[in-house]
Amino acid sequence: MYPVMLNVRDQRCLVVGGGAVALRKIEGLLDEHARIDVVAREPLPELRQLAAASRVALETRAYRSQDIAGHVLIFAATDDPAVNQQVADDARGAGLWVNVADVPALCSFHLPARLRRGALQLCIASDGEAPFVARRLRQVLEQRFDSEWAAWSEAAAEFRRRVRASSLPKSAQERSFDRFFENTVDGARLAVRVPTPAEMERLLVEAAVPGESGVGFVSLVGAGPGDAGLLTLRGWQRLLRADAVVYDRLAESVLPPQLDRNIELHDVGKQPDHHPVPQEQINEVLVRLARAGKRVVRLKGGDPFVFGRGGEEAEALVEAKIPFEVVPGVTAGVAVPAYAGIPTTHRDDASRLTLVTAHEKTRAEPARVRWDLLAADRGATVVGYMGVSNLQGVVDRLLAYGMDPETPAAMIERGTTSQQRSVNATLGQLPQAVAVAGLRSPAIFVIGWSVRHGPKLDWFSRRPLHGERLAHFSVSAALVEQLERHGVEVVALPRPITPAARVVLAALPVTGWLLGNSEEVDAVAVEASGPERMPQQRVWCRSPLAVARARALGWAHACELAPEATAADVVRAMIAARADQVTARTCS
Ligand code: SAH
Repeated sequence: MYPVMLNVRDQRCLVVGGGAVALRKIEGLLDEHARIDVVAREPLPELRQLAAASRVALETRAYRSQDIAGHVLIFAATDDPAVNQQVADDARGAGLWVNVADVPALCSFHLPARLRRGALQLCIASDGEAPFVARRLRQVLEQRFDSEWAAWSEAAAEFRRRVRASSLPKSAQERSFDRFFENTVDGARLAVRVPTPAEMERLLVEAAVPGESGVGFVSLVGAGPGDAGLLTLRGWQRLLRADAVVYDRLAESVLPPQLDRNIELHDVGKQPDHHPVPQEQINEVLVRLARAGKRVVRLKGGDPFVFGRGGEEAEALVEAKIPFEVVPGVTAGVAVPAYAGIPTTHRDDASRLTLVTAHEKTRAEPARVRWDLLAADRGATVVGYMGVSNLQGVVDRLLAYGMDPETPAAMIERGTTSQQRSVNATLGQLPQAVAVAGLRSPAIFVIGWSVRHGPKLDWFSRRPLHGERLAHFSVSAALVEQLERHGVEVVALPRPITPAARVVLAALPVTGWLLGNSEEVDAVAVEASGPERMPQQRVWCRSPLAVARARALGWAHACELAPEATAADVVRAMIAARADQVTARTCS
């Protein structure tokens, strides 16, 4: 069914029938100033009155096939099925749109239930199959949308006219609409406020302020190490209000999935040939977007100024005279050891913390990193970034400078995420242990005596559901809390799924879905490219309908959870399923 709004003003419409149903349709058409012809054998008195007032043209007689000529819309609403059928056949034969009350099969269009607030209309349709649902839903919404919405929509139209008549550039106009909306709509409560004329004036003037509309603004935002919960509040606010987001690989899992689909996403993490985008090119993108007047967020893994080349980006912005800010992030060197239970400083073991790159810009000798000093400092923790391929070289140097080969050491891959893996060893043994475990970038190494606390304090990767990454649309906060506490990385998705959400989903492997109803199942089905992708992931369904739908789609690992299952029940079921991999098959 394809929704449209028809302008029926002065268009001729035919209504066959004169009962209550016909009268309802006639009233709807009169509201829209249609010209209405009615053919009815026994019209209700209300209908006769409308005819007497010349608001409809009424013929009190039986329907004849030639009646449909000259009309654009035909309505059949008699209590005689044969007549209704005849009207439908005639209309279709003449290529006219026809609606037969309560007989979806005969209709070429349906009327949605609608809610009107001034120029604003909410229409609810059910493909004609369950009009009672649409009607009741309308009653629900009727109470949620108070009459203020009518006055508000008038004010909004007025505001738009004035903005369009102004000489503001398009991007500033759009921003003024944003501002009007934000200042007058409470989305959570579905409430609106009509702005005063003075306020309208202020919103317009604000949008006209130069700078606001001219040169944009860049926020260099630290995304943190991968766990979306470690993005700062300010970073999150900047993302939600951005016009464009420029991100790289380490920041993918942190994009807010609910980012509006109109926000431009620029992936500078990899090119089609898998080489990283050159820094100069990234700088150019930032400058170009800002010069177009956009609010740009440059989202970088960890902290932008810690081995993130944020300094170079800031320099390019200064040169281009583009205003910017830096929103620091939680750097991997501090957060990742913490998630592996390693305190980077410790009263007994470490009173200095060194963050070091194992991958220097120039391989020139002598190295700028004073490995000799680090090797000599027994009270230090050394955290190394970008050290997977150079690990052996780093260890060799430290040992050559006399560092104790028994110094505890660890390497942690993809820390703070569901993919976190780590290896603990002595300094001397670390390269070998890392090679055996097959750890890959991104990973950091940690060397120093405080690392010995790691195995005891490891709180993250020991949780029973560590490794699971579960996506959902509508799970309660209580269940999310329980899942997270048991080690699940939980990804909340908007429906329909946004481009940002797709980036988040693809950033790390999704191991399962937690779905509430069959619409949610369908929303996932739309995403899965081909049926072969889904069966790999376990689908937890919280209703019999959802599980039925999932199985109908051929998903092998659909498991049913009783709708009344508590958060603890759900967690238990997941732990059991993981302990017994076979369960995935037996429960489907
Ligand atoms: N600006 C970032 C670092 C970028 S350099 C920050 O402040 O964290 C990239 C290196 O960071 C990777 O090679 C790896 O050594 C480290 N890194 C980033 N995220 C990581 C993670 N989740 N787990 C382990 N190492 C990580």
